[in-house]
Amino acid sequence: MSQLFIGGEWRDASDGGTREIRCPANGASVATVAEATTDDVLAAIAAARQTFDAGIWSATPEPERGALLHRVADVLDRDADDFAGAESRDTGKRFVESQYDMADIAACFRYYAGLAGKQTGRVVDTGRADAISRIVHEPVGVCGLITPWNYPLLQTAWKVAPCLLAGNTFVLKPSELTPSTAIMLMRALTEAGLPAGVANLVLGAGPVAGAPLAEHTDVDLVSFTGGLETGKRIAAAAAPTVKRVALELGGKNPNIVFADADFETAVDFALTAVFLHSGQVCSAGTRLVVEASLHDRFVDELVERADRIVLGGPFDDDAQAGPLISAAHRDKIEAYVAQAIDDGAKLRCGGERPREPELADGFYYRPTILDGCHGGMACVHDESFGPVLTVETFDDEDEAVRIANDTHYGLAGGVFTQDAGKAQRIAGRLRHGTIWINDFHPYLPQAEWGGYGQSGIGRELGPSGLDEYRETKHIWQTIDPRPQYWFPNRRTP
Ligand code: NAD
Repeated sequence: MSQLFIGGEWRDASDGGTREIRCPANGASVATVAEATTDDVLAAIAAARQTFDAGIWSATPEPERGALLHRVADVLDRDADDFAGAESRDTGKRFVESQYDMADIAACFRYYAGLAGKQTGRVVDTGRADAISRIVHEPVGVCGLITPWNYPLLQTAWKVAPCLLAGNTFVLKPSELTPSTAIMLMRALTEAGLPAGVANLVLGAGPVAGAPLAEHTDVDLVSFTGGLETGKRIAAAAAPTVKRVALELGGKNPNIVFADADFETAVDFALTAVFLHSGQVCSAGTRLVVEASLHDRFVDELVERADRIVLGGPFDDDAQAGPLISAAHRDKIEAYVAQAIDDGAKLRCGGERPREPELADGFYYRPTILDGCHGGMACVHDESFGPVLTVETFDDEDEAVRIANDTHYGLAGGVFTQDAGKAQRIAGRLRHGTIWINDFHPYLPQAEWGGYGQSGIGRELGPSGLDEYRETKHIWQTIDPRPQYWFPNRRTP
């Protein structure tokens, strides 16, 4: 057992508690892991605090911290298929997708490794000969990192790599549904030479294993990726200690398709946008906003092709999409679709569990398209986090922008048109953190990621992603100090 990693030691939960991890594709048991108690989480926070205060890691020169991140990436590359297999068994995601994720994860560690020593502070001209002013970067301190189940190790890498480069210590709390690759990452960090106590891992449900990371005075930053309601709870729990809070939350992302788009390209990306990983992607293009004159032809083609998507397990070579993460999540999506139909949406395909007997033990749900939607419906505003596409129409650019911006989220959006000027015009007017033109989903470790509106606070990836994990301090020094006589009533002139 012993999967809690605290102060450089593997430990069982203090009350011996465990949790069974099951593959969503077939319900098979894949692991039994320790379930942390509050005492275990407090021990992990104490270990991270003590290690940070001892200054071992923060005093390590940044190039050495970067070299360690390179070694971590090498271990991730070496063991990529083991990691990908574990990720697929926990999430039900296709193995090939987990392999792509592993390449992105190693690239993220290498990107931050490459920033080592390049993000220097600066000297500011004070305009005086007797004073200097320096701007320096310092680590924030102890970081609480809380991650979701959809891209378990990728979301973890986005936090751990900049967190370590900046010289912090951390306590990681992965989703209770998908802990396996976080456990493996702790081993990789140790193998790469990370000092004991810098990286700590607690496992278990959010209210016990995660909540203290938001509440505790000894945690200086909480970085959370997950759902909107949990994010609000974390921000509220963090408020009394005024710690830094970074939130990467959900999205209800519009995909605008103009009649002048390349038809085949737009259809293909519209399907990928929403049905990749069965829609369990924060930036999934779940709102098709299509020009009215193209609507019938476009939606007919989407329905035809969505109906032929093959569902299957992570190691099934024919499968094009996998299961949902849990029975509870599928129940939620079924209720969401039922409500949408009650509200007047037209079910064009899906809306049911697959009929193949071999899929009966997994949490599968057919790709679903709901036509005839409008801004008055909950399905257009609420995230389902499943394979459900809503369809709205527009007549002109202004209407397309108004519909696409009519969301409390603001994570990402797509624009399909062959008119480059129009694409840029629209992109400039969309209130979303990432805009893809004639594409959907690509991201780069060197380009910032994060949402407008209620999609989050702060940015991950890119140079600003590093700024989340460091304080910026101004140090002024008067070089030749002399007495100052500010008040006329001084006794000694
Ligand atoms: P979730 O909010 O249910 O859980 C996320 C994490 O928070 C888990 O580790 C969970 O155990 C923990 N948690 C739950 N309650 C907590 C509490 N009270 N205190 C502390 N921690 C707590 O989200 P999920 O279902 O795992 O993930 C899906 C959501 O994540 C979707 O909304 C998706 O859009 C979002 N997401 C966003 C991004 C992004 O980059 N913006 C990326 C991936 C996923």
